[in-house]
Amino acid sequence: MPRNDIAVVGAGLVGALVATLLTQRGFRVTVYEKRSDPRKAGFQGGRSINLALAERGLHALRATGLADRVLEQAVMMRGRMVHDPAGHSGLQRYGVDDSEVIWSVSRGGLNTLMLDAAEAAGATVHFDQGLVGADLDAGTLSLRDAHGVERTVEAPIVIGADGAGSALRAAMHLHSPLGERVEELGHGYKELEIPPGRDPAAPFAIERNALHIWPRGHYMCIALPNREGSFTVTLFLPNDGEHPSFRTIAGAGAAEAFFRADFPDALALMPEFAADWAAHPVGTLGTLYLDRWHVGGRALLIGDAAHAIVPFHGQGMNCGFEDAAELAELFAAQPGDAAAVFAEFEHRRKPNADAIAQMALENYVEMRDSVADPHYLRKRELGALLAERSPTHYLPRYRMVTFTHLPYAYALERGRAQDVLVEQLLRGHEAVASVDIDAAVRTLKATLPPLPGRAFERG
Ligand code: FAD
Repeated sequence: MPRNDIAVVGAGLVGALVATLLTQRGFRVTVYEKRSDPRKAGFQGGRSINLALAERGLHALRATGLADRVLEQAVMMRGRMVHDPAGHSGLQRYGVDDSEVIWSVSRGGLNTLMLDAAEAAGATVHFDQGLVGADLDAGTLSLRDAHGVERTVEAPIVIGADGAGSALRAAMHLHSPLGERVEELGHGYKELEIPPGRDPAAPFAIERNALHIWPRGHYMCIALPNREGSFTVTLFLPNDGEHPSFRTIAGAGAAEAFFRADFPDALALMPEFAADWAAHPVGTLGTLYLDRWHVGGRALLIGDAAHAIVPFHGQGMNCGFEDAAELAELFAAQPGDAAAVFAEFEHRRKPNADAIAQMALENYVEMRDSVADPHYLRKRELGALLAERSPTHYLPRYRMVTFTHLPYAYALERGRAQDVLVEQLLRGHEAVASVDIDAAVRTLKATLPPLPGRAFERG
């Protein structure tokens, strides 16, 4: 195998993208995917049915020429539609206008587009080829097909994009320990569906262009729109405990009673609730931390295989896409030195992966609890005012993460500093209207340096 050959394990979202980007840069890429070709066999979910695509992910897709086609299949989400227990709802916009929105995309549709793109670029994708082991010293991979037949292939350089349960990670760990640590969240998730309405002219049962949230303190439901008019609803709930948990509401009857009490308006839109509940498994959630992501110049992990996070910032795929774009740039700059590329990749990306892991955990509390809290809403309102009055010095953290390419680690740090300042400016004020906004802007500019120019880049 020549040195510019690269093997990729996993043809999910991140694997298909990195294969496309590397092939476009002149590498010969071979991808091994455990599952059957979803374009022939149908997409076998496993993780969420749809997911939120934001600027970081879009930016990486633009590099492949795929962004417009993905957006054609997506539904725009302008903000969070928050549903209170009394059945009232209100939209909290994410940004100032429709230049700052996120997009609900179908995982299966996106994967299909990306596999087509990888093959069109010249990558070879082998399906029904699950990695079962790797000899990193010999530069070989052991693969098993759907009939259990094993074979060995040469792969002196391999990239593991095989997701949170990565088999390549296990093989790397056997070669040299990676310092793996998994922190379970203790909460799981279950997907349900709001089907499209009967009227084809108005199929969406609730506001189409929003990410819906039913925050209920220790748990919540969210719903993302699908193009044909349905919504994929996800319940996030503690796994265990005396209060509502997947243990206490295990059966469909108990679950329906729980929904009737806590989410009556959502339940009314789900005629197949009991069947969905019985058919869909409870998914587990956790954060994966590794001390090392690579073994010399032989093997590197990217995407969820390196840093699976909880889904509450809608950034797991977006972060994985950023990984793919950054790795392709590094390889293009130093095509003959995989060890240097892998080391530099880990050096650049790991602090950012750690930062988004933390922000994703924090966002769970924000989504399930704070979005309905008056103090949070006051902070949000003052933050939005400061951003409007002094855009060079203030950008809410959510917007830094979602609509810019600023490193996640910067967003975390800057967000903390901004939060301290806003708390200080609000001290003694019951309402934002009583804050002297000119004085607040002066304090802001005296306290924090300007944001980097990159905060304002788009596209
Ligand atoms: P995966 O998507 O897991 O793909 C891994 C691929 O490797 C699969 O095709 C798999 O079949 C293959 N594979 C596995 N084992 C092997 C093997 N042994 N050999 C060969 N192939 C193998 N992210 C967002 O950005 N926005 C969201 O809104 C969002 N919502 C989410 C909601 C939920 C409920 C969950 C669980 C996650 C969500 N995420 C979201 C995160 C996102 O799903 C992941 O970050 C993303 O799928 C990671 O892509 P990946 O390609 O690294 O891994």
